[in-house]
Amino acid sequence: MVLYPEYYKKFNCIAHRCKHNCCIGWEIDIDDRTLDFYNSVDGDFGERLRQSIYQEGAPHFKLKSNDRCPFLNDNGLCDIITTLGEDALCQICNDHPRFRNDYSTFFEFGLGLCCEEAARIILTFEKPFSLISKEGEPLVTKEEAAFFSFRQSLIDLAQEETLSFEEKLKKFEDTYDYKFLRRDILGWVDFLSQLERLDPAWEKYLTLAQVQSEKLNAVDLSSYEKYFSRLLVYFIYRHTADGLYDGKFTQRAALSFYCTYLIRLLTAAQLTYNDNFAIKNFIELCRSFSAEIEYSEENTESILSL
Ligand code: SF4
Repeated sequence: MVLYPEYYKKFNCIAHRCKHNCCIGWEIDIDDRTLDFYNSVDGDFGERLRQSIYQEGAPHFKLKSNDRCPFLNDNGLCDIITTLGEDALCQICNDHPRFRNDYSTFFEFGLGLCCEEAARIILTFEKPFSLISKEGEPLVTKEEAAFFSFRQSLIDLAQEETLSFEEKLKKFEDTYDYKFLRRDILGWVDFLSQLERLDPAWEKYLTLAQVQSEKLNAVDLSSYEKYFSRLLVYFIYRHTADGLYDGKFTQRAALSFYCTYLIRLLTAAQLTYNDNFAIKNFIELCRSFSAEIEYSEENTESILSL
């Protein structure tokens, strides 16, 4: 059985129209089943596949200059799909930008914020967050039932329209007896600057926040509250389920608040400086945060340990 957010099926990769092609800049591991298949493909294309894969250790594609996947062609299309069809993709390419939460007898799927089209859908979908299941209610264990109740109360809090983000954060702290770390913006920029750096373009957000630090408190973010609410729900949905494996339920909920909190600070910095800052720029900022922080295990751990 599978559950997914209502907006999930709206996603279609925008391929050559995408500015941040996910076939650039990442090491792409190839699962064993797909590697066996690639090793069995005949002819010139089979030879090209094998020449383009490091087979030792964790098998992965040999990236070209600018970290491009060797099968991403000049039209922004994937040669594996155009030659062998979509079923020939490895697990990572097939799943991306989707993620999966695993439970005892069922799965949840979601869209990841690091893809610009997924980010657009997550942040602009107008209806409250809800999960769809085509096969009725899933069978859950006692622990899972307790988790779903915990998560739903967090999602309800995140979607409470009468509360600002700061008020939601305060309520979270009071309810779960959690002390949220408060630093000034320069302290947060310093923290973010010391994390693993994946994309040099991320620097511009940190530099601007540093330069504009004294102006941030005066910024009115009220028109962004609904976007912060959707962000918070996204992070809760994505990150709290792993609490069933590591027991860090409250820390994972706090991670969701920290991620939203940091994006708020960076948004405020943009608004002090750029009169033309629009929702599309905000979506790009969120995508960039996700690619830089959320998609680095090391960086996510650093926030989880705050
Ligand atoms: S980042 Fe998203 S929209 Fe862009 S190529 Fe990848 S899956 Fe498609």
